[in-house]
Formats: sequence, structure tokens, C-alpha cells
Amino acid sequence: MKVFKFGGASVKDANAVKNVAAILNRFPKENILVVVSAMGKITNALERLTDAVFYPAKNKKEDAAAILAEIKKYHFDIIAELFPSKEHPIYNEISNTFVELDWAVEDTPTENYNYEYDKIVSMGEIIATKIVNAYLLEAGIKSKWSDVRDYIQTDNTYREGKVDWDLTQELVNTQLLPEIKDGKVIVTQGFIGGTSENFTTTLGREGSDYTAAILAYACNAESVTIWKDVPGVLNADPKWFDETKKLEQISYQDAIELAYYGATVIHPKTIKPLQNKKIPLLVKSFLNPEDKGTIINEIQSPLPIPCFIFKVNQVLISISPKDFSFIAEENFSDIFNLFSEKQVKVNVMQNSAISFSISVDADERKLPDLIKTLQKKYRVLYNDNLELITIRYYDQATIDRVTIDKKVLLEVKSRYTVQLVVKDANR
Ligand code: ASP
Ligand code: MG
Repeated sequence: MKVFKFGGASVKDANAVKNVAAILNRFPKENILVVVSAMGKITNALERLTDAVFYPAKNKKEDAAAILAEIKKYHFDIIAELFPSKEHPIYNEISNTFVELDWAVEDTPTENYNYEYDKIVSMGEIIATKIVNAYLLEAGIKSKWSDVRDYIQTDNTYREGKVDWDLTQELVNTQLLPEIKDGKVIVTQGFIGGTSENFTTTLGREGSDYTAAILAYACNAESVTIWKDVPGVLNADPKWFDETKKLEQISYQDAIELAYYGATVIHPKTIKPLQNKKIPLLVKSFLNPEDKGTIINEIQSPLPIPCFIFKVNQVLISISPKDFSFIAEENFSDIFNLFSEKQVKVNVMQNSAISFSISVDADERKLPDLIKTLQKKYRVLYNDNLELITIRYYDQATIDRVTIDKKVLLEVKSRYTVQLVVKDANR
């Protein structure tokens, strides 16, 4: 059995949904578990909706109603193109599904932002899978919709649900595996999970790849394919580089490193479950499905060319004790605990005798609070609007190439990877 993951771009409009059916038709008689994300940029719209609902003083109720109307229109436009007959049951089904969002806009939210977020934002995947499944049936594919919350079980860390692997495995065995047979296609949601009290959680932004990996692990799938709008994993993001090369094959080790440093093609949590069961991960183009794409599997050879990862909007925080004493072990654990408590991810760090520098993503919601707390005990300086450049399999020439017109504020080198925090030289 194979797992296919279709992300937002691959279901962003009616033609894209038709293309999903065309791809599945290339694999007749195979048992395929299809994991689908919210359509296009709907998750961002649902995040805006959550904010409008939760912070009505700032955004007002009308804003929420307007955003919801926009989300409904987007989906119903796609449905109208896919299902010309207005009698088709999908019209009713999606209207009924939207009732949950109507309620979310009308009711007073609880105090728990993250809980409300998951309740609202998860609807993107529920709606997308219902539309895709209905279309696949229409196209003659033996497809069945399935609610992933019935088997991916998490704790109640809303927005960052931690998977209960044992329970998930048990539920996959009893609820999901018996369905996967006779050349059937099962359509289910990426990104979301359920708790023991039947609440909905999400697994973190861009988490649908992770869902595909969890299910592949629990089903002992033969492979996972992520269908993307790029030909495979490239050695740099075409957004920043004119010339990029596709990588034919990547080891799990390199893949996890690249994803960890911020290569956005694969969600960092995706690799571990696959590596643990040696399940190959294919990254392929949904526009050219016959092309080979990239395969990530158990190989020993390093990448043949350097890989570049750019992260913009970095803030470099420098922390030093107020009295010129050393940065010692107790400070480290104190500082790390704070970062973890405030859910701020460390992208790169470096220490000297009396200071400790950490680069993090700029995040208005989290950083001011973290910095204020740090300032109670330490002297804290920070520099924003920086870029973090990571090069895997670097040499001096590649470093020189990316630092033209840049001032390097921090450089951390290990054997295979260099990380540079830079700013424009003329700023
Ligand atoms: N729809 C979710 C997001 O945009 C999950 C995903 O796309 O993987 O974050
Ligand atoms: Mg997405």
C-alpha cells in the first residue's frame, strides 16, 4: 500500500483537483491512502478568522463574518466548477460542514486561543477532503472519505499536538487497515488529530507531510509520495536562486538535516517515522507525474552538490549576565528552559565567555514576552531584520558567494554545515 500526500497547491482550484484524479488513475488497482491539506492558502485565511473571532476588540465581528464569507466563496466556486449539477449532494454536505464555522463566529470563544485555533483551522482539511473525495467518486475512482481524528490521537497540546503512537497504532490496526484493500483509495486529512475527549488538535503548521509519515509508519506502507509544484527536492529555493539543481537521491540523514535547518519542501518531523521503518519518501511533481522526482531513502553517500537554505526575518538575541560574570552551565539551562517554555525555536546559537547569541524567527506574539523575561536576569541586546543562511556541504567559494554585500554577524561551522547570520552591508 502507498501513501500519497497532496498539499494546498495541489488542490488549490478545480483543475488541480481534477489533476489529483488523473494522478490516481495512473495507479489503478493499487491501495492508496491519500492525505490532503487545506486548499490553496485557506489555512492562512482560517488563521485570520481565528484572530477575528478571538480578538473581536481589535478586528470586530464584521471582520470575522467577512473572512468566513470569503472562505465559503472560495470553496463553493471550486465546487461549482467540479460539480455542474446543483443537485449534487456535495453542495449540502459542505454547507452543513460550514455550520461549525458559523457557530465559531457567532459564539463567544473560550479563553483558550490555541483550542479555538485548532477548532477553526482544522476545518480547512475537513472541507478539502470532502470535496476531493466527492470528485474522485465522480471520476469513477473507488474512493472513501475517512476522518483521521478517529485514529491519529494526540494529547491536548493545541496547535502542536503530540502523537500518542501506541494508541494511534492500535486504532490504525482496527479502524483504518481493514478499509485499505481491493484497490481502494482512502481520502483523509493531513495536519489534524483527535484527543481522547474527541477534541480536534493540529500538529503544527505545514504538518500534513508529518501526517503522511505517521500513517505510513503505522500501516507499514511501501512508500510515501509527496506531490508538489516543484520537480523534487532542489539544492536551493528558486525564490532566492536563479540556478537550482534537482537532487536525485537524498539520505534520510541529509534530508532531516536540510528540513531541520529550514528547507521548506519537507516538514522536519516527517523523516523520523519513515527512517525508523526504512520507508522511502518520494517527492514528485504533480504537473509532471511521470518524472522521477527525488527519492529519500537509506543510502550512505553524501549529496553531490552544496545545498543552500535561506531564512529571512531573523532576530539575533545576545544574552549576557549583568555583572560581567561568565555564561556558565546554570545560565544555559535557565535560558533554554525559557526558550522552551515560550515555544521559541533556536535556529542557531554561539557562546563566548560572557555572552550567548541565539538567532530565532521574528514572531510578534512570542518574542516581546521572551525578551522581557530574559531582561529580568540578563543584559539582552537584539538585532532584527537579519537573514540566516545555511549551507550543507559548504566550501569557501559557496560562503563567499552568499556573503557578497553582506555583513556576517555570526558564523557557526561544523564538518558539513555552516550557518551564517548576516545583514545587508549597506544597512
Ligand atoms: N494546511 C496546513 C498548513 O497550511 C497543513 C499543511 O499544509 O501541511 O499549515
Ligand atoms: Mg499548506
